[in-house]
Amino acid sequence: MKRRAWLLLPLASCAKREAFVAVAETVRIVDIDRGMVTVDKIAKTKAEWRQALSPTRYWVMREAGTEQPFTGEYDKYEGPGVFRCAACGIALFSGDHKFISSSGWPSFWQPLAPQNILKRQDGDRTEVLCIRCEGHLGHVFDDGPQPTGLRYCINSIALKLTK
Ligand SMILES: [Zn+2]
Repeated sequence: MKRRAWLLLPLASCAKREAFVAVAETVRIVDIDRGMVTVDKIAKTKAEWRQALSPTRYWVMREAGTEQPFTGEYDKYEGPGVFRCAACGIALFSGDHKFISSSGWPSFWQPLAPQNILKRQDGDRTEVLCIRCEGHLGHVFDDGPQPTGLRYCINSIALKLTK
């Protein structure tokens, strides 16, 4: 009797742990084609991110690095399009809200949808991250143009332009 009970316990606890792991964290975002949708959050280990991203992109997006000003792919881009997260693909910014600032980084006066980004206090600055993968994008400042007065200062390498 005693022995049987001892054998059953580890099995039960093992099953519980599997059930817990299978429940993925989700988030509500705006999809440009489908409207509000629920998507799984992307959680990878450091090693998995290192494998998925180029070294510079890993440094910017996972270690909150900042690319050199005036060197990024989209700094001077003025055309239309949707700027997606370079790590997980969700739509983050629109060419309609982009402006050329003198900062040397792509600048937007608003995100495509407030639901799609995450803001976090970073010392005296406000960090901007992708809501789905929590990849670092850049910072937001209050010296932007109207109508918002905001300047989302974003690393080119954290974005992927789609038209
Ligand atoms: Zn992302």
